[in-house]
Amino acid sequence: MSSPSRQPALRPAVFLDRDGTLIDNAGDLGDPDQLQILPGVPQALRLLLDHNFMLFVATNQGGVARGKYNEDAVTRTHARLERMLCEQVGAPHVITEYYYCPFHPQGTVQNYRREHEWRKPAPGMLFAAALAHAIDLEKSWMVGDQERDVLAGAAAQCRTILLCSDRDQAAASASDFVEKDLLNAARRITAPILHATAVGAVALHARRSDILLDAMFQETIKSMALALAQKTGIQLLQLDFHASNVTVMVAGGEVIALGFVTELRRDTERWWRSHRAAESPWGS
Ligand SMILES: [Mg+2]
Repeated sequence: MSSPSRQPALRPAVFLDRDGTLIDNAGDLGDPDQLQILPGVPQALRLLLDHNFMLFVATNQGGVARGKYNEDAVTRTHARLERMLCEQVGAPHVITEYYYCPFHPQGTVQNYRREHEWRKPAPGMLFAAALAHAIDLEKSWMVGDQERDVLAGAAAQCRTILLCSDRDQAAASASDFVEKDLLNAARRITAPILHATAVGAVALHARRSDILLDAMFQETIKSMALALAQKTGIQLLQLDFHASNVTVMVAGGEVIALGFVTELRRDTERWWRSHRAAESPWGS
């Protein structure tokens, strides 16, 4: 009898419009040499990556349907954009996948002249990404500078942020939030949820004092704590490493802290057992 396969944990994502959100362009850009990343974008993406969000671009490229450039140009533009982002963000990978829709119902190129479920405001690109990359859409966000971005995000059950500085446009938008640029949007997305009044602190005690000197284990504990906070919506206030224990401080009080640490202990113990030793890294 085969054992049931484990479902991978769903991850949160941020879907990003391209033109006017990541790059300074009003649309129809098919030349990689014209790419200009907007100010604050690298910092914004760094912040989102540090908070364990997967990043995707979801962009309408009706310029293909209008015959301004071809799909090959879109691919080359995205490859160049990714290289520029990696360099400016300081990461080996930034955008997990670039989704684009080359169709347009009023296009002049016959093969691309039609409506398509990927074309925003339809949510097709977000659904495709969610299926391909195990994304939790309800914990994800869509950010863009047009209402069609907001509508696509909302149709996929994501929270939405419209980037705009125009008061009338902001007032008319169906978005959950309005921010002036991507950096402010990233701060909004990663801001702790300040619903808790109490604070709880619990320590995880290592079984041996050298266990917490293991740098990779420390990094694992940090990233698992962040992922757990993201998954549960619990606000992680502080994570401190000491000689023989890790203290975890969360909003919501002692009971919430205890539940959080129990889960973190289980996750990190699993990692330790498969990477280091059969016995638990934690004492009683
Ligand atoms: Mg745009």
